Amino acid sequence: MTTITRLEVQDVRFPTSRSLDGSDAMNAAPDYSATYVILHVDDGGTEGHGLTFTIGRGNEIVVTAVQSLAPLVEGRSLDAITANMGAFWREITGDSQLRWIGPDKGAIHLATAAIVNAVWDLWAKREGKPVWKLLVDMTPEQLVRCLDFRFVTDALTPEEAIALLRKREAGKAEREAEMRRDGYPGYTTSAGWLGYSDDKVRHLAREALAEGWTHFKQKIGGNLDEDARRAALLREEIGWDNVLMMDANQVWEVDETVTKMRRLAEFDPLWIEEPTSPDDILGHAEIRHRVAPIGVATGEHCHNKVMFKQFLQADAIDYCQLDAARLGGLNEVILVTLLAAKFGVPICPHGGGVGLCEYTQHISLFDYIAVSGSLEGRVLEYVDHLHEHFVDPVVIERGHYRVPEAPGYSIAMHPESLDRHRYPEGAAWQEEA
Ligand SMILES: [Mg+2]
Repeated sequence: MTTITRLEVQDVRFPTSRSLDGSDAMNAAPDYSATYVILHVDDGGTEGHGLTFTIGRGNEIVVTAVQSLAPLVEGRSLDAITANMGAFWREITGDSQLRWIGPDKGAIHLATAAIVNAVWDLWAKREGKPVWKLLVDMTPEQLVRCLDFRFVTDALTPEEAIALLRKREAGKAEREAEMRRDGYPGYTTSAGWLGYSDDKVRHLAREALAEGWTHFKQKIGGNLDEDARRAALLREEIGWDNVLMMDANQVWEVDETVTKMRRLAEFDPLWIEEPTSPDDILGHAEIRHRVAPIGVATGEHCHNKVMFKQFLQADAIDYCQLDAARLGGLNEVILVTLLAAKFGVPICPHGGGVGLCEYTQHISLFDYIAVSGSLEGRVLEYVDHLHEHFVDPVVIERGHYRVPEAPGYSIAMHPESLDRHRYPEGAAWQEEA
């Protein structure tokens, strides 16, 4: 039996603002950061690791939120937690005093994600499987037992979820073999950051093409003429047979989005991502209606299952970009994946940041093998930053994610990387000072 003896949390930050990696219309100079959790155990085995992603200042607030949640996991046995993961999730999000500062949103929910994902990492390691494999090997009943359907049963009941999963049981082994052979299709955001010079964009686009990428995302939402000029430049580099997506990172009004996307439509974007406030469900529905056939994508700032339910019920999105660390960990991610499948909306999880690609490969593999059985409209974001800090980093080949085989959630970072980037005392920050 494994008991979680102690929860350790670290404030880890990378000085990415120096190179404008990750720069977009809303986030001019992020320092990619992680609230990093280690679950120490009493059985001498590997610990559970989990993180949530922030972009610098405020990471200390999430660290404090993790400390407030720690008593809900310390001293508990892993067996007791995994025997009813759905109940565990209800408990960790259900402490009434802590719930007051959410519920299910903001710093407390980001903190929940770090802890919940660390529990999944620990569980998968004890089972000797990568997380995606742990999930696809579960029966529909076991999987549904991991979920908390509170507040979503008007859209999806446990019985419907079981039926949906059962329908996909046939062909699971073939899809798993296919993924091991071909990998999961990805797209790259690395060439299109707003803060990059034209030369850098051209150079990175050429490099990405040569590496086999076929889907490219551009950051927009600054000056419209500039956006159009850079789109033309990207089209010049990638041609018209490859796919271009656009991401405005929340900077526009609803009507403004429609006007601007009608202008940018000449560059044939597959989707407009985060055009406006991430909370504006009806606004997204309005935009979707008026900019079709350009698709509408959002989700990286959608903080819980209830909001995703409404986005889907309101026909507001064409692509569900759930985030592995903004939702309250894998339990809620699975539930949103099932909701999206029921509404026929493909999931294209949000990647980038630090560690998000390491997480999302497991989610998209699970979606394809066990939930949707389809790759149509599905493409997994890839951003080429900070992977070197991970013990089992993502592996990309010809624009596809290779299937991770190491046990766990692929999220453990090298101890040296943690030491060097611990904020503010790590060497990376002391040198800066
Ligand atoms: Mg985005």
